[in-house]
Amino acid sequence: MDALIIVDVQNDFCAGGALPVPEGDLVIEALNRLAREAELVIATRDWHPPDHRSFAAHGGPWPAHCVQGTPGAELHPRLDRAAIDVVVDKGQDPEAEGYSGFEGTDLAPLLRERGVTRVHVGGLALDYCVKHTALDARRAGFDVVLHRDATRAVNVRPGDDERALAELRAAGVEVVDVARRG
Ligand SMILES: [Zn+2]
Repeated sequence: MDALIIVDVQNDFCAGGALPVPEGDLVIEALNRLAREAELVIATRDWHPPDHRSFAAHGGPWPAHCVQGTPGAELHPRLDRAAIDVVVDKGQDPEAEGYSGFEGTDLAPLLRERGVTRVHVGGLALDYCVKHTALDARRAGFDVVLHRDATRAVNVRPGDDERALAELRAAGVEVVDVARRG
């Protein structure tokens, strides 16, 4: 059984948000297509308390984003909500990094209970939450397919996207790119 994990496609990570990922909105249609074909669809949300350690005001690298209960933390309105079975909120511990959808959540037992053996991953952003979610899925024993056309990177340093892909491949993640497959 396969599941799709849509990572953090939230208003704050898309155009006009607090921490927009370049071309972040472009992942939405690809994810909606994947979601319509998937048996089980999980959407994660970055769901931070206002004093989260990743925020610049609290010593972290990022502007405040995806604060619990704010419009910026909501899933993007163009995501096909009817195709999403479960929403998993992460990043709720103010002292933990919280990049991975498996960190401090019940995502792994949820997948195992449903008989999932392989997860497909896309969303935002490739070089942070998508990467850490995919790596944790491998560590939890799942086969993992990363959909390159359904994710975009922040690229704080140029090439972070390619380094993330190399790290994922080295961990045994299959990277597929519909656009380049022709
Ligand atoms: Zn965050």
